[in-house]
Amino acid sequence: MAEKRDYYEVLGVSKSASAEELKKAYRKLAKQYHPDLHPDDKECEAKFKEVNEAYEVLSNADKRAKYDQFGHAAFDSSMGGGGEAGGFGGFSGFGDMGDIFESFFGGFGGGSRRSSNPNAPRRGHDIETNIVLEFMEACKGKKDAKIKITHMESCPECSGSGAAPGTSHTTCSQCRGTGTVTAQQRTPFGVMQTQRACPKCGGKGKTIETPCKKCSGAGRVRVTEEKSVDIPAGINDGQTLRVPGGGDAGTNGGPSGDLMLNITVRPDPIFERDGYDVWTDIPITFTQAALGDEIIVPTIDGKVKYTVPAGTQTGTVFRLREKGIKHCQRSGRGDHYVKVNVEIPKNLTKEQEKLLREFDKSLEKKNYAKRESFFDKLKEKFKQ
Ligand SMILES: [Zn+2]
Ligand SMILES: [Zn+2]
Repeated sequence: MAEKRDYYEVLGVSKSASAEELKKAYRKLAKQYHPDLHPDDKECEAKFKEVNEAYEVLSNADKRAKYDQFGHAAFDSSMGGGGEAGGFGGFSGFGDMGDIFESFFGGFGGGSRRSSNPNAPRRGHDIETNIVLEFMEACKGKKDAKIKITHMESCPECSGSGAAPGTSHTTCSQCRGTGTVTAQQRTPFGVMQTQRACPKCGGKGKTIETPCKKCSGAGRVRVTEEKSVDIPAGINDGQTLRVPGGGDAGTNGGPSGDLMLNITVRPDPIFERDGYDVWTDIPITFTQAALGDEIIVPTIDGKVKYTVPAGTQTGTVFRLREKGIKHCQRSGRGDHYVKVNVEIPKNLTKEQEKLLREFDKSLEKKNYAKRESFFDKLKEKFKQ
């Protein structure tokens, strides 16, 4: 675009020209370049337009004041922070000059850049709720888990239009369908014209004469209802399950938001979860530990038999491969770990004590490999 000439220069007057001087200059030039006198002369036509534009601004006290302060930028909101903005030294700290012009001079040059179209389809909000699962439900998944949610739904009465059944929208009488109104506004730079969203129709350009009774014209209603959700196997405490489309209904035909389901898993008295692995502590007797035995281990699939070998020490951990929890995102399962704790018998009778002492007497060094090695080390340590 060609550089715009200074309006005063166009009219050939000084910056301090009076209204009378402006008018005289304008009339003279308008006559000179009038298209009637120069048919098919593009240059004259352009000059004539230029003169008219200059006079249109300078003959209006408000516009002239703005022009004096900001130059052509005062009437061109499409101009951003670059270009001529450097000329306004006093405003350099404001950052985006375009925003300043837009807020002050929104009425000029299509200042609607920032306001979004109120008729555009808009996605509904996501909503959030919680569900508490039993340990096994989280491991195995749960079909049709019932949850209660409160969300915005498209109004069933008016199918989301907001207009009572049998009626429709009408063009807004205040803005005549444009969605915007022009208003005078007093600012530090004088009285200015600003364009804003029409208060009657909220910028939509149309109004509802007979609003739907159910939704009062909003097109959506708040509903509390029970929903069924399939919980996938393997979900864990603290995770959030996204249910697409389970949130608030959109507006103007936009899609629904999602439901974010926060998962809480109740702890289990037997099973402990670590990722996709399950841990169980199992007490065994000291005889089982010494002689070995077949024990019953509870897993999430039910009970399984496991043979504890003779001489099992307390705290030993056995791994049952792929008896853990099914992976959520991929195939396969975690493992089940069994930790055996040897329980030392208490409250022995005299007879039991006697038997135990006799038994103890029968034991030899080779029966206690660890103990032997420990005392050897101890002796070594305190030799000197
Ligand atoms: Zn309705
Ligand atoms: Zn309106």
